[in-house]
Amino acid sequence: MLPEARERAALLTDVHTEVHLDLTSPEDFGVEATISFACTQPGASSFLELNGGTDVTLDGQPAPYADGRIALTDLGATNTVRVTARMPYVHDGDGMTEVVDPADGERYVCAHTSMDITQKVIPCFDQPDIKSTFTVSVTAPSHWTVIANGRLASREGDTWSFERTPPFSSYLFTLVGGPWVSVTWDERYAPAPGGTLPFGWHARASQEPELRRDADELRRITSACFQHYTTVFEPEYPYADFQQVFAPGLNWGAMEFPGCVVYRDEALKKGTPTELEREWVASTIAHEMAHMWFGDLVTMTWWEDSWLNESFADFMGYDVAGTAAGYTDAWTSAAITRKPAGYRADRRRSTHPIAEDTEKIVDVDTAFANFDMITYAKGNASLAQLGHWLGEEDFLAGVNTHLTAHAFGNADLAAFLDSLDAATDKDVRGWAQAWLRSTGFDTLRVTRDTSVDGPGVPVLTREGSRPHRLTVSAYDSSMRLVDSRDVHLGDEPVRLEEFAGRVVVPNSGDETFAVIRPDDESWAAITAGLSAVESQLTRAMLWWTAVDLTESQVIAVADLVALADQHLRPETHPVVFEGVMRALQLVTRRYAAPDEVAGHLAVIADIARGAVEGGDPLLAPGASRVLARLSADADFLVDWLAQDDVDQSVRWAAVHRLAELGDSAHIDVEAARDQSVSGHHAALRARAAVPTAEAKAETWARLMGGELGNHEFDAVGEGFWGWEQADLLRPYLSRYVIDGLALARRSGQGMGDVIGDAFPQLPLTAEARLELRTAVAAALEGDVPTVLARSWNDSLDDLDRTL
Ligand SMILES: [Zn+2]
Repeated sequence: MLPEARERAALLTDVHTEVHLDLTSPEDFGVEATISFACTQPGASSFLELNGGTDVTLDGQPAPYADGRIALTDLGATNTVRVTARMPYVHDGDGMTEVVDPADGERYVCAHTSMDITQKVIPCFDQPDIKSTFTVSVTAPSHWTVIANGRLASREGDTWSFERTPPFSSYLFTLVGGPWVSVTWDERYAPAPGGTLPFGWHARASQEPELRRDADELRRITSACFQHYTTVFEPEYPYADFQQVFAPGLNWGAMEFPGCVVYRDEALKKGTPTELEREWVASTIAHEMAHMWFGDLVTMTWWEDSWLNESFADFMGYDVAGTAAGYTDAWTSAAITRKPAGYRADRRRSTHPIAEDTEKIVDVDTAFANFDMITYAKGNASLAQLGHWLGEEDFLAGVNTHLTAHAFGNADLAAFLDSLDAATDKDVRGWAQAWLRSTGFDTLRVTRDTSVDGPGVPVLTREGSRPHRLTVSAYDSSMRLVDSRDVHLGDEPVRLEEFAGRVVVPNSGDETFAVIRPDDESWAAITAGLSAVESQLTRAMLWWTAVDLTESQVIAVADLVALADQHLRPETHPVVFEGVMRALQLVTRRYAAPDEVAGHLAVIADIARGAVEGGDPLLAPGASRVLARLSADADFLVDWLAQDDVDQSVRWAAVHRLAELGDSAHIDVEAARDQSVSGHHAALRARAAVPTAEAKAETWARLMGGELGNHEFDAVGEGFWGWEQADLLRPYLSRYVIDGLALARRSGQGMGDVIGDAFPQLPLTAEARLELRTAVAAALEGDVPTVLARSWNDSLDDLDRTL
């Protein structure tokens, strides 16, 4: 934490911000803010942040304004300052984001803030441990609806006024305006005046059919999660309403603004969502709602404890999606999609303790880079293990002590441990040292003690340093479950006498965060009978183990594909099927040699074809997309497109694949048919895939030209690096490094992030991988913006695993 931030937090208290925003001009927007606050040392000086303002005044005079700061001098015990300014809209998702919907030309304005972005919208003390109450009013075009953190108090003419909010951190400030379509209801809540709170879902006008289609389910999930949280958490829901918006241009997947949660608008799918996508929506609703308590009511003091927000919300998201909202396979989804991202992140050099060292967070960009899969996926898995180790009741008691003690304030790791410690006799500080303050993960290995008579006795050993509580299961040779037991594993190996002669699977309930290495006999039985394992959660964990063995180069990509050929075809669980399909594609892209790719894709596409032809309505949406995306049969794809009942996302997958195969004739036709935002991105993706030198050159100029919005950049980057285009794309490996760096230097955090995401991911020869490695490593010797540098270092680590 920077000394000046620490000093300012000690100096300023009782902040209230009254702000009026004028959104009527599409050119820029007006801000008038009156900020009152107390100062603990009268006579001291401080400052307000305001980033990019013009015509800035302070108390009616030209402001002492430089380098994004308004100087405040000779402060009294209480102070009121008035700031006015004109502020620019942005198109990179970092600030007051202005988006025009291509479907109908309607304009939307969304304050996408978080981290240190709110200062691009309003003047503020922009750090998490100075909380302010807010009273907001907004003047907007007359056909708009405006939604903000506070509950709507009145609308007079074109001006919307919102009630004063409880105190929260500046990074949580938001408002959104536009001709939204809305589904609203009054949610039962006894402590609220009148016994109910206003709730709503809102989407762009052009997404009305999708919002109407999904409204019942969105409302059902929201209501179930709200009733659950308000039952288990002791502090009351802190805000006066709960609005949720599918907001265009958002860089994050979703953001937990108090009383006004925003989601990426593409989460409201035009086509039929897959089971993983449906589950993502449910767990994300539960995740963001958990933040109303974890993060918004009680906020980390400084960014090294961002895990206190995100690990908790992520854990709650999966847990509550299952227990309250009926998505009972949420943990199966986590096992095959979320936790693997945590293991991958934990293998990289950039790994860090879940609770990071304070001095490592030198600035907000470094903190931004730590919103990673250590903080989300590993933190989530570690808290799941903590709950399992402590027992649910004690865990929840500790959590409630924490929430109650720090309501409307800030807290750090030490405060959290104090709260947990009060709820249990167990050594939570020792647990935290082992799990939260360390890096890496343990390996749980099974060996056989054959020194005794009879079949070998399995012995479970931990390589690592953490205590684990987990389920270990025994199977017969055809993978029928025989028995399970609860095991506490620490420094001492655990002998499993009763499992002698059995196939042994540690962590069969996926309770802990550790990779497993079964003994050879067990692994042979697992690979022979994987699809016969009854529990989908255990299957998911075992599939991840096979993926992990591939990424660790213990088995070949071809072995994994062969395992899928045998055991994914009979798989009927949609989450396992889709999760493994995703993993197969990722592994093929990263680890396969160029001359193996066509063979692997053919197998994966054929597994998908089997599921499509099998007609299972839960498997078909995901499998159809994979088939359309990977099939090498152009005639088949063209015939598919000619049918008129094909799902929109499947159509775009087929158009993309045809473009990749050299037939770009379908792109314009489809773009005319689907003029939505997602259609616009899909068309960009498909055009970027066209495999000619001219098309690639044109696409490249567009990608690096600096004119694309973040989501457009993402789409073009995804399409550009085609599966089978290694030769054609060879010249762009080094250009990516040079041009990407130049673009990042003239852009913000959000763009740095998407440039990193556009790292060449395609099957390359060892020589080409080495060339790419050398170019990136050389660039990293120089001056690379923090967010991009982190992303490139991670990509280098991933690349090194393939070399
Ligand atoms: Zn979150």
